[in-house]
Amino acid sequence: MLMDGSLNLRFVARVLVVLTLACSFAACGKEKKADKGYMKECVLPADQTNAFQGAWRQRPIKIAFRTGHWDDAQIGAIVAAANTWNEFFKSSKGGPIFDTGGGAYRSTANLTAPNCSSTDGVVVYKRQAAGSWPAELGPSAAGATGVVSCGFGNGANGYPILAAGMMEFNFVNYFREGTTALLDLQTVAVHELGHLLGLDHACGPIKNGKPNASCPKYLSAVMYPSAFYDSATRVGQIKRNLDTNDQGRANCLY
Ligand SMILES: [Zn+2]
Repeated sequence: MLMDGSLNLRFVARVLVVLTLACSFAACGKEKKADKGYMKECVLPADQTNAFQGAWRQRPIKIAFRTGHWDDAQIGAIVAAANTWNEFFKSSKGGPIFDTGGGAYRSTANLTAPNCSSTDGVVVYKRQAAGSWPAELGPSAAGATGVVSCGFGNGANGYPILAAGMMEFNFVNYFREGTTALLDLQTVAVHELGHLLGLDHACGPIKNGKPNASCPKYLSAVMYPSAFYDSATRVGQIKRNLDTNDQGRANCLY
């Protein structure tokens, strides 16, 4: 969404769009139980061959929280989401993909798009002040993650090389009492962390705020491009566990 002028630097933000549903819809149902038998092989359906943003040169990816933005419970939810990916990667690739320091890392970096020489690692920001959520991301976006690709062709398996990133969460409209919808922070964080490690959405670009027509078969993937909330209770769905599609695709990156 944000583009730098240089040829070898590309910063693209991906967002998770929130959709309102009456709960007759399958997505509002209870989350499937986690299947601890993780997939170890690359499984890439033909309609997902371009659903990647790149692969990180250095792993694990260090994640710091912006000083003053987060309380302990919120950090705990995001760390738990990172650990969900880590448990999978430890099983499939022998080591964690994220280094959160258990939530201990902090950064005072200003909220600006990183570049290829950024030294702060990945910083996680909260936007809560009225009007602070960027208009270009859209008011129905719960979170946004941008990654910077710095070079092409030399990343793992030939994907663009990712070297920096940032994540932001939309507390203006979500996650707290009195906002449009109460979403589960861990659910949204699992999705955003999937972007951070290099996955694009499970089913292609969003048009007019809605997933494309081929999407329903990937509804249970955490990288499905939308989160749902019940229009009656205004409480969001919980989807904290990786689907087999998330696992199979992630295995193709590293
Ligand atoms: Zn997304």
